[in-house]
Amino acid sequence: MIIDFHTHTFPDRLAERAVGALAESAKIHNYLDGTAKDLRRSMAEAGVDYSVLLPVATKPGQQEPINRLALEINQHSPETGLISFGGIHPDNQDYRRILQNLAENGVKGIKLHPVFQQTFLDDIRYLRIISCACEQEMIVLVHAGYDISHPHCEYSTVPHITAMLDTLKPPKLVLAHMGGWNNWLEAEDRLAGRDVWLDTSFSLLPLRHTPHRADVADSSPAHNRINLNTTGEVNRCQSECSSGNYPDTDPERPQRPHVTGLSRPDRQDGKNPDTELHLPQEAFLRLVRKHGAGRILFGSDSPWGGQAETISYLKEAGLTPGELDAILGGNAAKLLGLRTISGSATACC
Ligand SMILES: [Zn+2]
Repeated sequence: MIIDFHTHTFPDRLAERAVGALAESAKIHNYLDGTAKDLRRSMAEAGVDYSVLLPVATKPGQQEPINRLALEINQHSPETGLISFGGIHPDNQDYRRILQNLAENGVKGIKLHPVFQQTFLDDIRYLRIISCACEQEMIVLVHAGYDISHPHCEYSTVPHITAMLDTLKPPKLVLAHMGGWNNWLEAEDRLAGRDVWLDTSFSLLPLRHTPHRADVADSSPAHNRINLNTTGEVNRCQSECSSGNYPDTDPERPQRPHVTGLSRPDRQDGKNPDTELHLPQEAFLRLVRKHGAGRILFGSDSPWGGQAETISYLKEAGLTPGELDAILGGNAAKLLGLRTISGSATACC
């Protein structure tokens, strides 16, 4: 039984524009076209039983169509294998009502994206949402680390994650991108072993760059970067997204160097490994073992990552059969409360 815990789809009429805009912003190729139909085709080919869809509300008000669609998708989960989380924005003052409504309608979790939502993860607005989601026994999945389209944004880097974790103890917290995209050394140091789940999305496969990708570290000014939500609406990032916007009140907080991936000095091909922006296999295994395979979830970040390709990677990564089973679906089934029958899962409970 295989569960992809981190995927995205867009309404059919918006998918082409949405995926095109995001691919252009990040200067990467997509694996799928962003429609539910293409994701289901990929699931059938890769042997994925369930995919968790993670919509993001990039401004208050957008949660309404997003959550309406989530409920519609979840009505058909047993046939389609698609399970949608809900969306919420930190500026939603009626967060209690929104979360309660999602929980009452059987939505198992929410997605928060501090970079797209331009709010630090340890901001009170997120703390109260996470706390309320915990009361509703919901899973909270958070974009963790930097974002490829906003390479200097610190909204959800490891110091802000640990500050949130020091305040709250969310029992069902999933940190995407192995705890911190392009922030992996710090994730290994400060998050491994803590009471959180890590998903593998957008972390294991080398990125498929479009031309000019190598200039990512000095990419376009903030006002040219875009955010895009599952309604397909494009929002320009107005903030400077720098750590300087955040008052660092914690004198104990170590100075964090800007980590640009994990270098592999053994490369013979002359290519700069830092432009590949993924976790080297050795570092992945080290992080899995330090954190515990029982808290790692397979996620492809489809359409930005390939499901079959990520599964192949995991199968060849040197994990034990038990670790592999847990990561590919066993851990996710438990977290989602899916009942497993002879290796497959049902969405009935
Ligand atoms: Zn994602």
